[in-house]
Amino acid sequence: MCGIVGYVGEDRAKDILLTGLKNLEYRGYDSSGIAFMDNDIKIIKSVGKIKNLEDKLNYENVDDYKIGIAHTRWATHGEANLVNAHPHTVGRVTLVHNGIIENAKELKEELINEGINFNSETDTEVIAALINKYLDNDVIKTISKVMDLLKGSYSLGIIIEGVKDKIYIAKKDSPLVVGISDKGNFFASDITAINMFTNKFIFLDDNDVAEVTKDDVLFYSNGKKQEKSVNTINIDVNSKSKNGYPHYMLKEINEEPVVLEKTLKPYLEDFSSIPDLTAYGEIHIVACGSAMYAGMIGKTLFEEKANTRAICEVASEYRYKNNIYNNKTLVILISQSGETADTIAALKKAKELGQDTLAIVNVKTSTIAREADKAVFIEAGEEIAVATTKAYLLQVAVISLLALKLAYSKKLIDNIDTYLDEFKKIPRLVKNVIDRENEYKNISNEISNSNDVFFIGRKLDYAICLEGSLKLKEVSYIHSEAYQAGELKHGTISLISDGMPVFGILTDKELVEKSISNIIEVESRGAKTIIISKESLKQNKDLEICVPDVSSFTIGLLIVPVLQLIAYYTAVNRDCDVDKPKNLAKSVTVE
Ligand code: GLU
Repeated sequence: MCGIVGYVGEDRAKDILLTGLKNLEYRGYDSSGIAFMDNDIKIIKSVGKIKNLEDKLNYENVDDYKIGIAHTRWATHGEANLVNAHPHTVGRVTLVHNGIIENAKELKEELINEGINFNSETDTEVIAALINKYLDNDVIKTISKVMDLLKGSYSLGIIIEGVKDKIYIAKKDSPLVVGISDKGNFFASDITAINMFTNKFIFLDDNDVAEVTKDDVLFYSNGKKQEKSVNTINIDVNSKSKNGYPHYMLKEINEEPVVLEKTLKPYLEDFSSIPDLTAYGEIHIVACGSAMYAGMIGKTLFEEKANTRAICEVASEYRYKNNIYNNKTLVILISQSGETADTIAALKKAKELGQDTLAIVNVKTSTIAREADKAVFIEAGEEIAVATTKAYLLQVAVISLLALKLAYSKKLIDNIDTYLDEFKKIPRLVKNVIDRENEYKNISNEISNSNDVFFIGRKLDYAICLEGSLKLKEVSYIHSEAYQAGELKHGTISLISDGMPVFGILTDKELVEKSISNIIEVESRGAKTIIISKESLKQNKDLEICVPDVSSFTIGLLIVPVLQLIAYYTAVNRDCDVDKPKNLAKSVTVE
């Protein structure tokens, strides 16, 4: 969500900062801005796309600056307008900020009483005012002192009038990484912002402050100097191209077979490399959004197949609720970026309460990957479209493998090779499913003019519905809800009206008849039903998509791409900004 990037070196700051901002665009934002520094400080801001900022910069004389801090804002405090856009300046201090200052209101009131005037509605301006208030010759000490006063999350890039050639940075509960090179030093919210300039990175920990100059970066924690290790990380820069696809979302769905193969291969070749969870009497799966829905599939498989009690919870609730650990519990955290603020908080809480933690993450260098006791990685590569597709599918694949291993270790299944063969075939089967694009376009044409859509299913099928429904509403803006098929008649069925599309997911042999009854119930009230089934449960309906028969360990991996593609083509039909849906951010790094 939003991003910061900064540079001090011998090259043109404008080019580097604009590239960095464009690379951060995928995270979601509503305005942007840059502060350049030399003998003076020059600030240019703009509302809307980075392109607007770039156009403004063309009329400014900023080509000679070699130092700067830049920001994409996802407004939390105050409207998305020019005044609230970052950077913010108070006195000698200019800064950019990602995150939320929770006690901003109280701090602001105190500062106003002391006679400070504020221009914006942001919490960020309060940080600038505090640093300016306490500023003395020891800037690191000043920043540390202000950090002690702040509650909330932040990553900061700070420049100070009169302190030339230096940028100060600091962080707590919001990601920040330094990039080093012979031609200068960088910082950014994530490495993808600057990985075309360097492959050498240093990750900041919470409460770190650093002084970045052209030739050096000095790190401090609680006022004391720190040594930090340098990580060499090479990222495929080509992942940024759309490879001829009209949207990243379609490109990324089409990458699913390859990334499934890459993720599954090492585990299938060496089954013992999959963590054994037999020691745990209970599993808590904690995540947000689609990752949480991947967790719902995991929960169902842990309970149904591995006979292990599992709960799946939204991280923003889990971090604050009274979590009851009766049995030896494993807390599984799922996050694509590994930087999801609520999931990080849930991880920290679980650790504080003495629970074992296991992370399923894509970004190996992320906070969650580094802080969990164990991490299982998915190999999604970079995912640019805001609505996740390939990363979600890989999260499902990995958690399903964990459930399979547990079921096997508990001797609840014996024909393990049959299941492993099925996993081996999955990339090819997913490819065949993805290639049936005309079928999905046809269904999309049926639903594109609807205002409301429902998805119904039971147990595992319900977990699949949750993601199908979320994907559709995220990218097409059609109101959509997922319901347990049997629950619909306890209220929500009153909303069913003539021609309203209802997707019925049918993959569970045991429950198919029950779900069909629910489908007939909505059809009797005028709904237009669309069935997504597997071969052996085919209903021969006009609007039906059937995928090959596989077990419940892998069926989600075949059904979800169907739903992703229907969501995609529906969004395209409705002329939506498919890769950057309004109000959404890729990596939700604020609470
Ligand atoms: N809370 C700050 C604001 O609303 C920063 C938001 C961000 O992270 O972009 O300006």
